[in-house]
Formats: sequence, structure tokens, C-alpha cells
Amino acid sequence: MNIPYGRQSIDEDDIKAVVETLNADFLTQGPKVREFEEKFAKYVGAKFSVAVSNATAGLHLSILALDLRKGERVITTPITFAASANCVRYAKGEVWFADIDQDTYLLSIESVRKLIESKPKGFFKGIIPVDFGGLPVDLEGFRNLADEHNLWIIEDACHAPGGYFFDSKGKKQMCGNGNYADLGVFSFHPVKHIACGEGGMITTNSEELYKKLILLRTHGITKANMSENHGGWFYEMQELGFNYRLTDIQSALGITQLKKNTVGVDKRNQIAEKYKLAFSNKIKYQYLPKQRYNAHHLFVIEVEDREGLYNHLQKEGVFAQIHYIPVHRLPYYRNIGYDGSNLINAENYYSRCISLPMYPTLREEEQNFVINKVLEYTNNE
Ligand SMILES: *Cc1c(COP(=O)(O)O)cnc(C)c1O
Repeated sequence: MNIPYGRQSIDEDDIKAVVETLNADFLTQGPKVREFEEKFAKYVGAKFSVAVSNATAGLHLSILALDLRKGERVITTPITFAASANCVRYAKGEVWFADIDQDTYLLSIESVRKLIESKPKGFFKGIIPVDFGGLPVDLEGFRNLADEHNLWIIEDACHAPGGYFFDSKGKKQMCGNGNYADLGVFSFHPVKHIACGEGGMITTNSEELYKKLILLRTHGITKANMSENHGGWFYEMQELGFNYRLTDIQSALGITQLKKNTVGVDKRNQIAEKYKLAFSNKIKYQYLPKQRYNAHHLFVIEVEDREGLYNHLQKEGVFAQIHYIPVHRLPYYRNIGYDGSNLINAENYYSRCISLPMYPTLREEEQNFVINKVLEYTNNE
């Protein structure tokens, strides 16, 4: 057996789409980028979307579009990939971690509220909640809190294309649709739902932010709204931007991958149901609150002897993974003064968590094998 925790699925349609692009006129910045953006925006229900080279670039541009300045403070979760916090550091901002909920593993609104209320007015600029594992955060709750304190929200939805929740009016809200967050960011790294090799998408309902993002994605260069014009060749560099573009080749792959996402997320939920049935009353797994649909990038359980289980599974060819080493524990953050003394749930979670294989092409006999090995180990603990 050789079963990873996640893997991409590439089929003939994907290959055909990429080959067609290779034979077409544009390898980058052709029609496929725009088409992917439009289809993705439609899929999540956002007004605008901006394709970028990866989600880290997307988070960076988001922070710049929101105009974060040196020393300004942003709150995020310690249980996420480092990039959710790093984007703040790129702009020389300060990262503040609030604790997670011990059952959903999501950034806890209560803990964010406490942190905000323990500081003077205007102390923080924004919040970056993460739809961890694919489980949508309560964005309506975060929006209410953010509005009380005049904060922006970037939804790190890298785990959650296809996830959704129902708001207090009973309206379905897709992750990244921009109704409650200012910006949403997605990743198309192969371990995520939609594989472009590398790639990312920023979504928003704000035309103003959209225009800034478009400018910043391409060096800050534009041919629109120029202060002067010397002729057809002329352009202006109006901001210090970056080259964070996605290529037509990657976008072609993104389009065919996106088409399969609804079915893929559905399959992920079937796999999750089977795990839950097998583990119920025996092993703790990520809690699913009512009115939410988990896109299940991950399936996380908690066990006493996590290292033992990790090693046991690996011996059997099951490559489980840990999501995540808390960001405040990474040496870069430790070295600039972070510790986890006030992040009790995150610390406790990290000592017990392990992510089991979760991807649409995981076969039934493979999942049975994983379940048996987990139960075998935890029963003998
Ligand atoms: C993967 C991931 C990112 C970064 O994505 P890239 O496309 O690899 O840059 C950011 N945040 C979270 C939560 C992620 O899982």
C-alpha cells in the first residue's frame, strides 16, 4: 500500500485542455485566464476574481490592496499554513494569534473578540480567518465583530472551494463569495481541490479592491487611467507591483479541474461520512456545526499517541500528515518573540491531531485499510 493524505486527480479532459493551450497562440495572458476567472467567480458567487500565481501571492496582494502599513496589526489563527500569517509580515505588519475552537479547530470568534476588546480602539486592522480543513468559518459572525471595530476580513478559503454555510437569514453562502469577507483567497496547489500545478484566485465583491489587485498583479503597470499618453505603445507603472500572474496553460487546467469540483467535494463528503461512522464514540474528529457544508480538504482526527499512530500508519504505507505545526511555533516566529502560552486549544490540538487520507480517488478498499489500521492502533493504545 502507498496511500498519501491527499492527491490530485488529472484525467484525459485535463490533459487535452492543456495540450490545446500549448498549440494555441498564447501561453500566458491569453483567453484562458479570463475564462477561468469568470467561471471561478460564477462558481463561488463572487462579483470579481483575479487569478494569481499561487495563493501566497494572492494573500500578499490582498494585504497590499487593503493598504496594510508597517506595524499595523492583524489577527489570524495559529492552526493554518504559514502563508496565512506571512502575508502580514511581507507588508511589515504585526501578526497576532487568537486561539482556536477545540471542536471545529477554526479560529474562535470569542477568542478574537476577547483579544480585540483587551486593546484600545483601532489597535487592529483586520482578521484573516481560515476555512480550516474545508470547514467554513462563521463569516457572518466575524463580519459582525469586524464591523463593530472597523476591521477588514480576508477569508483564507484555500481549503474550501465548494464549501458553504447558511447565514442567519437561511441564505446559502459559498466560501469566498465576498458577501461577508472583503476578499477570499484560494489555492490551486496539487494537494488542494483544484490542481493547476501552482495557482491561486482572489475573489471579491468590491470593484475598488478588484482594480487595485489587477494593477498590483502585473507590476503596477497599466494602460488605463493614465496621467499622460505618448501613443499606442505607452503605459504607466503607477504602483510598485509584482509579477504574480497565472499562465494560460495553468488556467486551461484550472477550468477543467473546476468543472469536477462539485462532484469531487461530494465524494470527499462520502469518504468523511464513512470515517465518522467507523470512528463514532471512539475517536474525536473535526466537529461539523449545523448549517455548514465541509469541503473536506482534510479529515482530521485527534488521538492520545499521535506520534505512535503516525509511525504505525507510515509502516503500513499510509502517509498521514499533521496540519499544522502551529505557526507561532515555527522558528521564524519564535525568533521574533512568539510563544503559545495563551493559545491553549491550539497547543493541545497540535499534540493530538493527525490528517487521514482524503481525496476523491481514494478507493473503498484503501479507506477500509486506513480505518482498520487506525482502529487497530488506537484500540491497543
Ligand atoms: C496551501 C495554503 C496556502 C498557500 O497556498 P499556495 O498556493 O501554495 O501559495 C495558504 N493558506 C492555506 C490555509 C493553505 O492551505
